[in-house]
Amino acid sequence: MGETVTTIRPYWKNFIDGEWTDGASNERLVITNPATGDPIAEVARAMPADVDRAVAAARRCFDNRNLAEIPPHQRGEMMREVSLRLGELADEIANVECFDNGKTLKGGYEDVTLAQRYLNYYAGMADKLEGRQIPLGEGVLDYTTHMPFGVSAQIVPWNGPLPVGVRSITCALLTGNTVVLKSPEDSPLSLFLFAEACERAGIPRGAVNIICGYGHDAGASLTAHGDIDHIVFTGSVETGRSVLRAASERIVPCIMELGGKSGGIVYPDADLGQVAKSAARGIFHHAGQICSAGSRLIVHRSIHDELVARLKDEAETLSVGPGIDGCDMGPLISARQLDRVESLCRIGVSEGATLVTGGARIAGMPGHFMAPTIFTQVRPEMRIAQEEFFGPVIVVLPFDSPEEAIAVANGTDYGLAAGVYTNDLRLAHWTADRLVAGQVYVNEWWTGGVETPFGGTKRSGYGREKGQEALLGYVQTKNVGIRL
Ligand code: NAD
Repeated sequence: MGETVTTIRPYWKNFIDGEWTDGASNERLVITNPATGDPIAEVARAMPADVDRAVAAARRCFDNRNLAEIPPHQRGEMMREVSLRLGELADEIANVECFDNGKTLKGGYEDVTLAQRYLNYYAGMADKLEGRQIPLGEGVLDYTTHMPFGVSAQIVPWNGPLPVGVRSITCALLTGNTVVLKSPEDSPLSLFLFAEACERAGIPRGAVNIICGYGHDAGASLTAHGDIDHIVFTGSVETGRSVLRAASERIVPCIMELGGKSGGIVYPDADLGQVAKSAARGIFHHAGQICSAGSRLIVHRSIHDELVARLKDEAETLSVGPGIDGCDMGPLISARQLDRVESLCRIGVSEGATLVTGGARIAGMPGHFMAPTIFTQVRPEMRIAQEEFFGPVIVVLPFDSPEEAIAVANGTDYGLAAGVYTNDLRLAHWTADRLVAGQVYVNEWWTGGVETPFGGTKRSGYGREKGQEALLGYVQTKNVGIRL
């Protein structure tokens, strides 16, 4: 796919009940380019009244059985059609991800491909979600079915709105749920283009509703709404807690995809050149704004200094700049996020950690650019070893024994991803078995993708997205017993 620069549409409306609509208040959100701070577009701001309309549309579509009456294999074909239509919008989506999110154009195209992979992967599973027949003896027929919840309310963070949103919407629709999704206020545009792909593909009215507003009003009123049946929340632990409080009022089932402080353990026999490259990609890709970023490296003391020197080389050779210029690493999403990452770095220094490289914003650049950062002399209890930066900052902690490495790796409130670098398969197995994390990467950060189940343990959340397991989060089992 060639990389094409296109212009960004100046004004974007919410997609409710199959129509593009201004917000009830007629207010607009201004979207800015994180690489320059310049405004690039405006979005109709959804308020609680818009949330009500969107939920009502999704409810009507569900209650009228508009999706339920489409046989599963045809729902799969619908998803394939959406994938084709999304492909038609690939140039525009790639540009949008570049200008409102800070990705490279290549990264924007990769997000389109990833979203299409979700649509096609789950399309193939639409007619394979089978129940069981349970033997209860002569004269009784007993079987299970998977029933949808109803209206699925979905909240998406700013770092990867298209793939994160599409993976949840696809699973929801294929299993017969309808969706109201609130896109992130900092980078909402690509999900509106997904809505356009759904419109072009002829998805039933009201099945997919995409709105954009602030978390504290549109987001909070969606997750507390009295007519939703299911919540998929992807975002920070703090916001996750308030979503769960709202959900507890009506006992609404939730999938929680929260933050991480994921650590990779490096044993002395690992290929250090390969580890340095994998670890650098694991933390500097998308400037570390990935929930499963490898933000801690737990390194055997005998190889610590050599690996740190290699990692420093990797960090210092990255080009940092606007994604549109094809730089290796783009900006953070906002001034707020840059301040947060920088201030946590200052805390690291005040706690006594050693700054090997980076540690501050890049002076003289107009956007929100943070230097790739490495800390050593880090103790497990330090805040920089415990708290999620969500930025391009990696902390290196030494260990002497495998048991100590496991204790350090598991020694945070989070449990999203973990990694092991070794050529000893037995040791890799031993370590993977003891790591408390939803996924363990061996010898390459981010092995796996659309097909492999993904999710958290501990404060990183619960429920699984991706892989076959994800579909089970969108259905509940019904048992039917028939006395013949
Ligand atoms: P955030 O929690 O601030 O916001 C996430 C979303 O929640 C946004 O759309 C926001 O508008 C909305 N929101 C805010 N307050 C709300 C409320 N009271 N009720 C309902 N919705 C509300 O997170 P962020 O800063 O946008 O994203 C970064 C966080 O997301 C990081 O912690 C990262 O690890 C996590 N994340 C997790 C995954 C995963 O799959 N586990 C993926 C991406 C990001």
